[in-house]
Amino acid sequence: MEFIGFTYVTNFLEDTLRDAMFEVVDEANRLFDDWGLGVRFVYLDSLTLEPGYLINVKTPEGTVRLYPLEVLVDFLDYRLKVELEKNDEIEMNKILGLISFPLASRNRYFDFYESFLGFQTERVGRRIMVLSMRPFESDVLRMTLRTLESPHVEDEVKRLARRILSREIETFKGRLLKGILHEVGHAFGLEHCSNPCVMNPPATMAEWDSRPAVFCRSCMKKLEETVGEFTPSTPGRP
Ligand SMILES: [Zn+2]
Ligand SMILES: [Zn+2]
Repeated sequence: MEFIGFTYVTNFLEDTLRDAMFEVVDEANRLFDDWGLGVRFVYLDSLTLEPGYLINVKTPEGTVRLYPLEVLVDFLDYRLKVELEKNDEIEMNKILGLISFPLASRNRYFDFYESFLGFQTERVGRRIMVLSMRPFESDVLRMTLRTLESPHVEDEVKRLARRILSREIETFKGRLLKGILHEVGHAFGLEHCSNPCVMNPPATMAEWDSRPAVFCRSCMKKLEETVGEFTPSTPGRP
């Protein structure tokens, strides 16, 4: 069995979203099991970054403070190396970091729809994946969470907000699950495809919602070939 380290990097994440995130990762593991794929996520604690790494990025929603991609990749790679030094028996050379803020680099603001869902790169045989959960959160979801946190909202309104939230959370979970499967697909060498498949990249969020949470036959066939061909990375190397 091959493992993918999983962690989340955040300065703040609502409990509701954190619970949903763990349910989605469990669901991904259940699907891998159903599909007979020898790969599972293993949770490696959450990561807290020093505020000193924060940068200001201009976005359509105004200026936001967030961690640049370069720093995230370094941190995730370091986290994976630490894990491999603790346990060099484990078949693991990949890590997925879910982040609660938009993906950004020191150089430019990455737009979600531009070319990819997440970001991944390779370091001496180690695969580092970063996926922002932010694009999967609808405006209604964010508004509802704010309403529920506010002490100045009437009980009646909060009851309504909770009903809306349970619906919006399901949408969020569906989007995130497909996002995670998409990144796992890339990590095992899949390219984008044009079938009804998680490897078919969306032009809009509505399109993403209409994708089934599956790999098509041709992607699954390739996955079955590459999952299980584990090559250990060299822990401790830069
Ligand atoms: Zn992609
Ligand atoms: Zn496909």
